[in-house]
Amino acid sequence: MKIYEAINLGAKELKNICENPKLEAELLLAYCLGMDRINLIIKREDEVEEGELAKFLGLLNMRKSHIPYQYIVKKQHFMGLEFFVDENVLIPRPETEILVEEVLKRVERGNVILDIGTGSGAIAVSISKYFADCTVYAVDISKKAIEVAKYNAEKQGVLDRIFFIESDLFRNLPPNLKFDFIVSNPPYIKRNEIELLQEEVKKEPIVALDGGEDGLFFYKKIIKEAPFYMKSGGKIGFEIGYGQKEEITNFLEKDGFKDIEIIKDLAGIDRVIIAKYKL
Ligand code: GLN
Repeated sequence: MKIYEAINLGAKELKNICENPKLEAELLLAYCLGMDRINLIIKREDEVEEGELAKFLGLLNMRKSHIPYQYIVKKQHFMGLEFFVDENVLIPRPETEILVEEVLKRVERGNVILDIGTGSGAIAVSISKYFADCTVYAVDISKKAIEVAKYNAEKQGVLDRIFFIESDLFRNLPPNLKFDFIVSNPPYIKRNEIELLQEEVKKEPIVALDGGEDGLFFYKKIIKEAPFYMKSGGKIGFEIGYGQKEEITNFLEKDGFKDIEIIKDLAGIDRVIIAKYKL
């Protein structure tokens, strides 16, 4: 079978599975052949070897069972960096780049930053990569996520600037540590809405999605405890879900945060909230 025929076959197989069947078929085939997509087009008349074709068909079957493309090829780009991802971590989303960008605008030399629920390490690693003069602590309740995050830090050459700790929120942090910036993209889906999610999203770790009955469980908890771990004048930054702005603003104001700023995503949805602790 020739390359272009394999692409057509793949596109047909993925027809009702994803929005862009042809593109995903091309990307999966390119992955099997160890080349980039452009080469597929140039070499469209080349034969696909039997072993490679078998591998491609296997990947198509995975995708047909709604395994996200990123878990199949084990990578996702975030902030221009390539992150390893597997089913132990949430696939980093473009919206989360807004949080990282807003943090980068505000960090200062020598800052100590905490990333809560680091998952793949997307936030911690990219902050550390683009702002070398800071110390980052990254926590996650999942040991396997911490392993993935460490791997990504190593891949980006920032492992020596990030302390990774397996921890339920603040629990296992060294005593007396105070942060200049606390950042988090916590799980924020309402529990009864999880079953309505796209099949692909349901393949992501439930601990990375489940925000409790009202979707706000982790915001409430983090905002309550954060003051014990913050320097006066320190900042907190969250990614937030659709329609969560009002309530999270209220929690922040009640617990001593001020100068609350909201940043919208490209779809015009309130996506990031930043606030200052006292001072
Ligand atoms: N911090 C990671 C990210 O933003 C994981 C977030 C999560 O698992 N909820 O991609």
